[in-house]
Amino acid sequence: MIPMVNLKAQYVEIKDEVERGLAETIENCAFILGPNVQAFEKEAAAYLGVKHAIGVANGTDALHLALIAEGIGAGDEVITSAFTFIATAEAIKYVGAIPVFVDIDPRTFNISPEAIEQAITPRTKAIMPVHLFGQPADMTELLQLCEQYHLKLIEDACQSFGASINGKQTGAIGHAGGYSFFPSKNLGAFGDGGLVVTNSDETAAKIKQLRNHGSDVRYYHDVIGYNSRLDEMQAVILRAKLKRIDQYNQARRHVAHLYSELMADLPLITPYEDGLGVHVYHQYTLLSDHRDEIMQALQAQEIACAVYYPVPLHQQKVFKEECVNLSLPVTEHVSTTCFSLPICPFLSDEDIHKIVDIIRGVLKA
Ligand SMILES: *Cc1c(COP(=O)(O)O)cnc(C)c1O
Repeated sequence: MIPMVNLKAQYVEIKDEVERGLAETIENCAFILGPNVQAFEKEAAAYLGVKHAIGVANGTDALHLALIAEGIGAGDEVITSAFTFIATAEAIKYVGAIPVFVDIDPRTFNISPEAIEQAITPRTKAIMPVHLFGQPADMTELLQLCEQYHLKLIEDACQSFGASINGKQTGAIGHAGGYSFFPSKNLGAFGDGGLVVTNSDETAAKIKQLRNHGSDVRYYHDVIGYNSRLDEMQAVILRAKLKRIDQYNQARRHVAHLYSELMADLPLITPYEDGLGVHVYHQYTLLSDHRDEIMQALQAQEIACAVYYPVPLHQQKVFKEECVNLSLPVTEHVSTTCFSLPICPFLSDEDIHKIVDIIRGVLKA
């Protein structure tokens, strides 16, 4: 049995450190915004090269609070990709704004800067790129568009912790960025967790207030806020994993490159690295017209595989009405041919060979 991501193998490696940290936390009983959350925020900010990092309850909240803090609200248009997880658009809806879905680059699956420019209207307030599958979006182009049209740039970096472009970490380039620590993400907790980063003192202050019931001073509430704090126990785990994140991402890149090398002669499209930044392969996603046969053959051998994402957001029931006449040909084509293989820092070369052999068998038949 080969899972999409082997969380157990990762746990075994950090077991002692994590168990010591958790035992200490239980002894200390400082469970809410305790010393580990504070230390993790400092360590994450240093790693990401950003002034402020604020721990929140999950990645969806990170994006939601970032949008509020950047002043995005009712009736504002936010341009984003339809080829992403629903949470990107949920966050936009939570603040009463309108997600404007545009098409992607056929090779990287990231939002197309040309498509963004065509979608800008006087109501556009922000661009929300997703660094999909761990590959940085074209931030040089996006920054330029934001400057030219006076837009906010809010990054969905939920899949790209540790990915960089032009020497800067994804998430830390725009006005604000959100990360998810969902267990299967590149930096994953043992439950839910999230982070907002920003270089703005004002945005950071608002996020700190919003995540804690709109309060700076206990029992004094200035705005309606939320209960969205990063959990102290999760911060213990994240601190242990943050120390090793470069090693994990490097191992993911090794897996991806070996897959691509072994499949170079096969009639399918392996992931494209545009070379603009460092891809950290949250997913290893290919395109094939024989997706269903390949996936069936893998599943028959107890090898996990998955489609991210089978239904693009503009075709989801929840958005169907507001997207009636919207056609995004690249997104639609990719969603009907894409599939993802197991990838994680602990996938052995032997397993990679085994997986590729099965795919080769299907395509040669
Ligand atoms: C995982 C993910 C999120 C949401 O993160 P949660 O922590 O599950 O709330 C948002 N956007 C993208 C692209 C994601 O992959």
